Amino acid sequence: MNLIDGKKISDEIKVELQEKIKVLIDSGRKVPGLVTILVGDDPASQSYVGSKSKGCEQLGMHSKIERLDASISEDELLAVVGKYNADPDYHGILVQLPLPNHIDEDKVVEAIAPEKDVDGFHPISVGNLVIGKDTFFPCTPYGIVELLKRYKIETKGKHVVVVGRSNIVGKPIANMMLQKKEGANSIVTICHSAAEDISKYTMQADILIAAIGRANYITSDMVKEGVVVVDVGINRIDDPESGKGYKIVGDVDFDDVAPKSSYITPVPGGVGRMTIAMLLKNTYEAYLKIEQ
Ligand code: NAP
Repeated sequence: MNLIDGKKISDEIKVELQEKIKVLIDSGRKVPGLVTILVGDDPASQSYVGSKSKGCEQLGMHSKIERLDASISEDELLAVVGKYNADPDYHGILVQLPLPNHIDEDKVVEAIAPEKDVDGFHPISVGNLVIGKDTFFPCTPYGIVELLKRYKIETKGKHVVVVGRSNIVGKPIANMMLQKKEGANSIVTICHSAAEDISKYTMQADILIAAIGRANYITSDMVKEGVVVVDVGINRIDDPESGKGYKIVGDVDFDDVAPKSSYITPVPGGVGRMTIAMLLKNTYEAYLKIEQ
């Protein structure tokens, strides 16, 4: 069993970006900028945007958190997005989801200029991903592809089984692995809660990507010997022995499945570490497209 170290790879990506940004700074050029729009004061969302902003600053990128009151109207929020679409200092715009119930999330995401859509959620980005054109990939699936590439895990002709069909993980990673491209070109199956018995599918996986949101759901009797396991799940379970009273586990029962796998991502320290690194990479890529 080989551990896929998301911390190591995300640190590598950040160092690569930092070097590129240093070149820009040294030559007196504008640096990439990311604005994160936060509506309301949900503690988890506040923590996510804080980490994203800190990530930018560590690399020498320009970043701003636009904090808006939860009572903001949809039209006012759309106007804020419009303002940043036109602002040359910001190459990436990220609206932290979820938004309050009175705001139509789709409408807000669709208002982001596609060339600044660093979250990759705009329908134009999604469409381009599906048809294999150059686009922004959503950060978590992008991180998975990058982990597989950097660990030189063969994907061509391999059977990738994705469990979960969300718009932010399951569907995009399945579409990415399907593309006739290096680091993909896989045979892809997607399964979800309507499957009577998902082990019928997971047993066939050369590469299993679990994005379900159920703690320790995938067990060793559901996978074949030598499987590559990518665990996207982030689940909080009670743990009276930890100081916090809980711990974070994945969708895969790591201790049970790891001995049967050839490669496996841990939780924490696997896919989760990649998401911000890929957001920073997308922001740099947006900068290159806009400024060159
Ligand atoms: P989601 O929107 O809740 O989707 C879960 C998917 O899993 C759905 O498609 C659901 O099927 C399917 N599912 C649920 N129970 C199942 C079962 N028993 N058998 C088969 N399929 C089942 O979740 P998500 O946003 O994709 O996130 C999935 C997990 O990844 C969560 O733990 C989340 O916290 C984590 N996550 C991590 C990152 C990161 O590392 N940065 C980013 C995003 C998400 P239906 O469609 O039929 O309901």
